[in-house]
Amino acid sequence: MTFSLKGKTFIIMGVANKRSIAWGVARSLHGAGAKLIFTYGRDRTERSVRELAGTLEGEPSLVLQCDVTNDEQITACFAKIKEDVGLIHGIAHCIAFANKDELDGEFVDTTREGFLLAHNISSFSLTAVAKAAKDLMAEGGSIVTMSYLGGERVMPNYNIMGVAKASLEANVRYLAYDLGKYGIRVNSISAGPIRTLSAKGVSDFNSILRKIEEEAPLKRTTTPEEVGDTATFLFSDMSRGITGENIHVDSGYHIMG
Ligand code: NAD
Repeated sequence: MTFSLKGKTFIIMGVANKRSIAWGVARSLHGAGAKLIFTYGRDRTERSVRELAGTLEGEPSLVLQCDVTNDEQITACFAKIKEDVGLIHGIAHCIAFANKDELDGEFVDTTREGFLLAHNISSFSLTAVAKAAKDLMAEGGSIVTMSYLGGERVMPNYNIMGVAKASLEANVRYLAYDLGKYGIRVNSISAGPIRTLSAKGVSDFNSILRKIEEEAPLKRTTTPEEVGDTATFLFSDMSRGITGENIHVDSGYHIMG
């Protein structure tokens, strides 16, 4: 068994810029020799994704649009991957969204529209993508998504995103059950707080980072590289016995309090 992922192809969903957790995953997988395909949601992120993908050595990566709220785009994206690449070995799903005004104040004020939007993009999209990708993982595969401790316990201001992450973690377990018979594993990484574009939407994010530095066993915050390396482990045969799991990469903060 080895960490080398030479000859394997992975889809990276959710790079927005160089701070994105998805980019940390991409760099780690690239370092292990994997071939990458990138997808982006909105038109405005395309340039940034193409520029970053272009910085990776070797054969240029395929870059495709896949707004996960759009069924036709999901179908077209995976049809194109099937046509161009055929076989894939895994997907890094690093996608979430909630209205900024609902990541502040009280959860009880969440609107129906905001609740459904957060669940649609941050949880259902994993189910939709797993379904679209299943047949492309004919040799088995590994799907990794990103969660947060706010899905397990109340984290002030995380609000609707916490409820969406609880849904995502249950989603992982049900997908793991269904897809296990095809040799496809499904896991989540519960990452500690990292200063990214999405994190900017969470009110008072700086004090959350300070709390981790003070209280987490490792006394430091999490980096996208640490999350990327754990994802690479989950994509490799080294983790072949693990599915339906939620691995905390958070300097150990989840054991406190
Ligand atoms: P990010 O803003 O860099 O990435 C979020 C990505 O989601 C962006 O690329 C965005 O374009 C994409 N996205 C949003 N709506 C989409 C849609 N409709 N279709 C396709 N893509 C869409 O932020 P990030 O922090 O790297 O977030 C990646 C994942 O990590 C998210 O699931 C997030 O909840 C999770 N996470 C983040 C932290 C943190 O502190 N940053 C901690 C734990 C988990």
